[in-house]
Amino acid sequence: MLSMPLDVIGLIFAILDPRDLLSLARTSKGLRAILMTKSNKWYWVYALTHVEGLPQCPPFLNEPSYASLVFSKYCHNCLKRAPLVDRVFIIFSARYCKECENERLVTQEHEQFQLLLGEIEDVVSERPKFTSYGYPARYHLPELVAFSKSWNARAGNAEAQTQLVRDFAASVKSRNQFAKLFRVWALRKKQARNKELRDEREAKKNAIIERLRTLGWGDELDQMDSSSRDRSLGREPLFKKRGPLTDRVVWANMQDEAVAWIELQRDKRLRRLRDKVMDPRFRLCERFLQIWAADYWPIDEYDDLPIPSTALQFRDYLLMPEIRSVLDVPDNVAVTWEVFREKLGPLLPGLVREWIESCKEELRAKLEVVFSSFQEGVDPMRLVTTAQLAARGHAKPMSVILWHGRLSLWEAIADPPSPDWKARVQWDTERIMVNPGISPLKARALIEACEMDADSATPEASPRMSPGLSEISRAVSRQAVKLKMVSAGITAADFRAAGMDISQGTTRVH
Ligand SMILES: [Zn+2]
Repeated sequence: MLSMPLDVIGLIFAILDPRDLLSLARTSKGLRAILMTKSNKWYWVYALTHVEGLPQCPPFLNEPSYASLVFSKYCHNCLKRAPLVDRVFIIFSARYCKECENERLVTQEHEQFQLLLGEIEDVVSERPKFTSYGYPARYHLPELVAFSKSWNARAGNAEAQTQLVRDFAASVKSRNQFAKLFRVWALRKKQARNKELRDEREAKKNAIIERLRTLGWGDELDQMDSSSRDRSLGREPLFKKRGPLTDRVVWANMQDEAVAWIELQRDKRLRRLRDKVMDPRFRLCERFLQIWAADYWPIDEYDDLPIPSTALQFRDYLLMPEIRSVLDVPDNVAVTWEVFREKLGPLLPGLVREWIESCKEELRAKLEVVFSSFQEGVDPMRLVTTAQLAARGHAKPMSVILWHGRLSLWEAIADPPSPDWKARVQWDTERIMVNPGISPLKARALIEACEMDADSATPEASPRMSPGLSEISRAVSRQAVKLKMVSAGITAADFRAAGMDISQGTTRVH
């Protein structure tokens, strides 16, 4: 280009816009030299007039700096990209990224600013003015530094310093006036850009929908509510891909994702339809199970510590394949009270027993980890129950442990459970914590404190002893109890729980 005659170069420059000139100035030293020659400032003046609505270059900037400020896309301080027009702080003649903005714009409380104000007030009676941005006002640190320099250069000359403050106030006024004009242009530019983006999105969305129609998804698309369809599509990652959809490569890249999206929408719609059928079935089934349990709960005679019917929640039943198979039938099959009575009635006692046994097994396995040091053959479930009986005079039957396990499950859910059956929680032994406070030594010491043999004591024997707990504890001397406490790490609270107060001179039973 440099080999061309200068007047030809001039003709070319005259039709370019500021962005083109900026890129040219960056391409070579020679071009830069031509463009930055003062006598060639007309190239910039022309270029700036090519930008619709842009206010003329203000007196406090020259044309190349103005063009660079408005159209180069880089932060003046760190040179990172800061492409949006609202990164231009026209009153400070600067373009800053977010970080540099925070670093270079300071409030009136800034120490350097306060010092400067103090110095000025000592000399000049009128209030100094600096350019400020936003509310609460922030000031431009480089401007304050530059002012300080000029101020110090006039040290001792009050008249010159007063003049400096006045000149500065005048320059602030002219900057503010220009900033108003510039902001109007910047706002229009931003609005135009937003509209462009909106139109682009709209066109893209329509193009995707058209493509899906040609793939045979028209019916599915028509069944969707158009505004929720647009919202859902707009959130898809495929929507953020660049390039026009008319490009075959671009569409080929996103076709699979677009089809996956519409398939998901179809599945959701079918799911909603299915829910409408299933919800009444679940409600009826829940009611049936409540009434069945009230009449036929099979556990009372079956277990030494009776487990109430509330131990099994509806969700636990729902996870049984036998019950699901009655509910999970096609939409047109009637699922009635009669169906439940005929198909589930005979199965339920066995299902409930099986469920409780398997939960007990899981619990036992969990307790065994903690109680593994105990003599082989001692059932940890029985040990815990017996120790509870010895300590409290009553034990938690499995149902209560189950209930507590479930309580902690509820609490583990961040959102409060909705009354909807889908949100209910099933029993999960995995999520139950064994309280490390029930140590094997503690359990053994508590049982032995009641003069029972920890290896052979049974929960069946304990209830018979609990009415006589007061005599037993009286018989246990204070020293003996203390010794056991020390060796087993039992606290006074454990014994208070057992109804014994050992803080007094003699063991007293409440
Ligand atoms: Zn920056």
